[in-house]
Amino acid sequence: MSLSQGRQYLAIPGPSVIPDRVLQAMNQPCPNIYDGDLIELTHSLAPDLKHVAQTKGNVAIYIANGHGAWEAAVSNVLAPDDTVLVLATGRFCIGWGEMAQNLGVNVETLDFGTHDTINLEVVRDHLRADKNGRIKAVMAVHVDTSTSIRNDISELRSVISDTGHGALLMVDCIASLGCDEFLMDDWGVDIMVSACQKGLMTPPALSFVYFSDHAASARNKMERVSSYWDWNPRTNPNLFYEYFCGTAPTQHLLGLREALDMINEEGLPHIWERHKVLAKAVWASCETWAQSGPLKLNVSDENLRSKAVTALSIGAPNGMQLRKWTENEAGLTLGIGLGMNTLEDPKAEGSFRIGHMGHVNAQMIMGALGSVQAGLIALDIPHGVGGLDAAAQVLANSGKPY
Ligand SMILES: *Cc1c(COP(=O)(O)O)cnc(C)c1O
Repeated sequence: MSLSQGRQYLAIPGPSVIPDRVLQAMNQPCPNIYDGDLIELTHSLAPDLKHVAQTKGNVAIYIANGHGAWEAAVSNVLAPDDTVLVLATGRFCIGWGEMAQNLGVNVETLDFGTHDTINLEVVRDHLRADKNGRIKAVMAVHVDTSTSIRNDISELRSVISDTGHGALLMVDCIASLGCDEFLMDDWGVDIMVSACQKGLMTPPALSFVYFSDHAASARNKMERVSSYWDWNPRTNPNLFYEYFCGTAPTQHLLGLREALDMINEEGLPHIWERHKVLAKAVWASCETWAQSGPLKLNVSDENLRSKAVTALSIGAPNGMQLRKWTENEAGLTLGIGLGMNTLEDPKAEGSFRIGHMGHVNAQMIMGALGSVQAGLIALDIPHGVGGLDAAAQVLANSGKPY
């Protein structure tokens, strides 16, 4: 008997759960795009978006998913025959590099595999060897959603600065913004890309390119930049339509405004702490189940893990079957494995991911973990006993004394 009726939980690493408040804010007739409330609302977004990234710099909004923001970022500061250094810790930085390559940029890749963070000493040596300053930018991903590895961006900045290299630091925070602590200015990030459908809880279609004044001057030295991706008119529009190089994404702006209000109401420190405690609950269950049987967390050191997504392997076809079971029987959709094996490799069916980002609370996480545990039992997949209790203990310890 299927018990999947009731509200579904899409526990994949984006799109994340959309709050009812955001859905309701979007559920309106199209507002006037020439003057009135929508214009005021749009002006109000940049200060709050900057607050979420902890920056006094600049932010351009694009009607695009994360891939669009990748291309926008590249298009503003990199020309054909420029060189970038890609620091890969999973599928996503490799994908960003491929996009740069297809725009004619030379890409040098240091690949650190799918279980480890960026090796900073290797980066240091590589930059030191670049005596003529061939490398114009370093590209990294804060949280790689395919592996759930979280890189230390502040340390990466220190290494670049130590070597005296002038490369721009470009960071993908699509899976971490509004989930994991990120301090753009303190960490010395020049360009940061993000999107609205993960920590920012809004249906996919808006993305953001943040840039420092240093990056702005790199943009202004470019011989040409595509009119559509150019961040200058978007961040300094003379006419309203220049914000979006055309028609404004009306309903999405209403949704994003509501989501930013929710973020401001909860407060960033609380949001980061909530993600941390809920992630610890997920890890406690997974580590307990992993004590016997095939389940493994992809990142063994918890200090190097994302607090928004957890990548796991459980052997093929168990991963695929577990996802089917929780979706069909419990109304819980887990994420597919990504980038751990090639798609043709039958082992790809052995990995999966749990998304715990954005609009999630303790009972949702306990429901998700309980459903996974039921799936493990139903499918006869051997696992350590007491996973759910371990998560309950984490949550119990996090509460105020009563
Ligand atoms: C989701 C994600 C992307 C891609 O975003 P799309 O909206 O699917 O284009 C890129 N990088 C990271 C780290 C992500 O998590």
